[in-house]
Amino acid sequence: MNNFDVVVVGAGNAALCAAIAAKEKGAQVLVLERGPKEKRGGNSFFTDGAIRVAYHNLDNIRKLIPEITDEEAENIVMPQYGFTEFYEDLMRVTEGKSDPVLADQLISKSYETISWMADLGIKFQLNENQSFEQDGKLQFWGGLPLKTENKGVGLIQTLFDKAVEMGIDVWYDSRAIDLVTDNDQITGVIIEQKEKLITVNASSVILACGSFEANKKMRSENLGAEWEKAIVRGTEFNTGDGITMALAVGAQKYGEWSGCHSIGTDYNAPKAGDFNKPGDIYKKSSFPLGLLINNNGNRFVDEGADFRNYTYAKYGREVLKQPGNKAFQVFDSQVRPMLRKEYNLEEATYYKADSLEELAELMSVDKDQFIKTITEYNSAVQEGNFNPTVKDGKGTVGITPPKTNWALRLDQAPYYAYPVTCGITFAFGGLHVDKEGEVLNKEGEPIPGLFAAGEMVGGIFYQNYPGGSGLMSGAVFGKLAGTAAAQLAEEKIKVL
Ligand SMILES: Cc1cc2nc3c(=O)[nH]c(=O)nc-3n(C[C@H](O)[C@H](O)[C@H](O)COP(=O)(O)OP(=O)(O)OC[C@H]3O[C@@H](n4cnc5c(N)ncnc54)[C@H](O)[C@@H]3O)c2cc1C
Repeated sequence: MNNFDVVVVGAGNAALCAAIAAKEKGAQVLVLERGPKEKRGGNSFFTDGAIRVAYHNLDNIRKLIPEITDEEAENIVMPQYGFTEFYEDLMRVTEGKSDPVLADQLISKSYETISWMADLGIKFQLNENQSFEQDGKLQFWGGLPLKTENKGVGLIQTLFDKAVEMGIDVWYDSRAIDLVTDNDQITGVIIEQKEKLITVNASSVILACGSFEANKKMRSENLGAEWEKAIVRGTEFNTGDGITMALAVGAQKYGEWSGCHSIGTDYNAPKAGDFNKPGDIYKKSSFPLGLLINNNGNRFVDEGADFRNYTYAKYGREVLKQPGNKAFQVFDSQVRPMLRKEYNLEEATYYKADSLEELAELMSVDKDQFIKTITEYNSAVQEGNFNPTVKDGKGTVGITPPKTNWALRLDQAPYYAYPVTCGITFAFGGLHVDKEGEVLNKEGEPIPGLFAAGEMVGGIFYQNYPGGSGLMSGAVFGKLAGTAAAQLAEEKIKVL
């Protein structure tokens, strides 16, 4: 009874793309979700749905969003973001470390994969966070003009609707705990359902069950002791089970096991993602417009080093290193109206005061040092044209760390301080897969019948990551793994 061609472990974006692709090739597919139905969908459910794709022009984007009218199109400027731009961004933020084979596959398959997603019924819309108005036109920048309608919630709902419509079985409260092998071939998976253990037989198993970000022990062993304290931004269920199971059957570790994606998150956010409050509401991404100051009253990063897209993923870990794993994003009233929407949510924690002294008292930071830091910063700010839509070069001179762009004097009351800590998104270390998503063993040979996709694929992201690449990577490698796993199942049936 428990026989399937393909078993997919996990029910996030990568898993569901894999399951649908396998089903399209005619396989009998089972999806296993560790959580109950109301907590399905993994980190993908929590996303803003921003998704990075290589495209040539606005026509490519309009194919994905047919609702854009000719009149609207005339007022949109959509610079090309092709293979080269995406590849260069990925290599730049990973300092050249991204595996070229996997990077090539991710980027070259990105447009065809997103078109396939659109055909499945996933709705996309313009990501206006990545645009600004210039000469009456909406000017996009940064290669991230797309997001899914209704964020990750919409994405997951549509993928589940499609999976169910296609007749894919989904088992909830079903935690995969072990792989079954026969002569080094994968033949199934063992599942824990409440108190019961069940074996499901399958020709192929696709692991798409996230990384180890929600596992305190694996975090502190691999990322460093301080990571025990990090907030988990997404699902509580990504505790590294898939990676552990794969390593137990000889899979090769790959990628930056000491690195992860993390960001500045509201200090009072829940310790793990709350499925009743999805939509990435606790992030705090407007730090390039202000200053980041720790409990000792000191700055510790160049807030204006680059656009938020290229620094937000590494500044989270810098916050974790600060005393009390805490820092404050400090703004004055001239930039407060420019802050992103999340600063206006009722969930946002902040202090407001008419003087910097009063603000420091509310923040309980070292007041003298706080005032000194801001005074020195204000004196170091150079004249120039402030323009948040480009790297304006309006910086500081003579202070460490500098603020390279968007440096305005912080001198207009009232003042605001948003306490932040570090929220981990996912770990960069994972398994080694080939370009079809097959998991490789320590000798670099495929483990027959074992595939992986999504967060648990190592070797693509190191140190940092271009925003929106997580969903695209899950979709590309999920689809590839699903297709290859179904093919393998068919070949096995022919042999029998
Ligand atoms: C708050 C937040 C915002 C984000 N915003 C974006 C964004 O806008 N754009 C972007 O590209 N990326 C974003 N990311 C990153 C993105 O979520 C991930 O890169 C991507 O969704 C990972 O997809 P996945 O399918 O690999 O994993 P997930 O979506 O996490 O799915 C993993 C699945 O495995 C299940 N599971 C775990 N263990 C087991 C087990 N043992 N047995 C069975 N099931 C198991 C989980 O319950 C879950 O269903 C964001 C992440 C967070 C947390």
